[in-house]
Amino acid sequence: MTLYSTSMQPITTITEKCRKCYSCVRSCPVKAIKVEKTYAEIIFERCIGCGNCLANCPQKAKIITDKVGLTEKLLDGSQKVVAVLGCSFPAYFHYLQPEQLVSALKKLGFSEVHEGSAGAEMIGYSYAAAIEKSSAPLISSHCPAVVDLIERHYPELIGRLTTVVSPMIAIGRYLKMVHGSDLKVIYISSCVAGKFETQSQEKA
Ligand code: SF4
Ligand code: SF4
Repeated sequence: MTLYSTSMQPITTITEKCRKCYSCVRSCPVKAIKVEKTYAEIIFERCIGCGNCLANCPQKAKIITDKVGLTEKLLDGSQKVVAVLGCSFPAYFHYLQPEQLVSALKKLGFSEVHEGSAGAEMIGYSYAAAIEKSSAPLISSHCPAVVDLIERHYPELIGRLTTVVSPMIAIGRYLKMVHGSDLKVIYISSCVAGKFETQSQEKA
């Protein structure tokens, strides 16, 4: 039997694979990993979702928590489910033409497929307004890892952070406004920090 740590979090540790080599501990820029048990445990209140520990574990003991099963359940249900492709999709799915990807997603049961970059266009004016209004330099709230870094580790800079939502949240809200709040939106992205952001939105 494979043993996992708290699997509801965006990153899971396969505890039996961990050899307590401290490679992830050394790679974490915010000291968010402790080794007190039989494995290296992430302290999620400190974690900013940078993904370093995933890339630096020689045992592949840290993995992204899989939500494929949950997505399959949603697609089998009666609610409308739409897919949004994060901006990095042409790099990740480089072996497919965009039309092939859209067809494949629709075949899986997604009723519509959108591009996350449309969310970036939606928030452009909010950034322009924030910059115009501010006399001091601002820090963009575009990247969820940067937002978490400031909120969790540099709270003295929170006043400099713009309050504009990320493109992912902007397009999710737009689609729910158009189709109704029952719509299920699946954001397909390679961004680890984005998983933390969706989790905090689900709790909100
Ligand atoms: S994702 Fe980044 S911040 Fe979080 S535990 Fe891993 S290395 Fe540390
Ligand atoms: S890098 Fe991997 S094996 Fe090493 S302590 Fe971290 S989780 Fe365990």
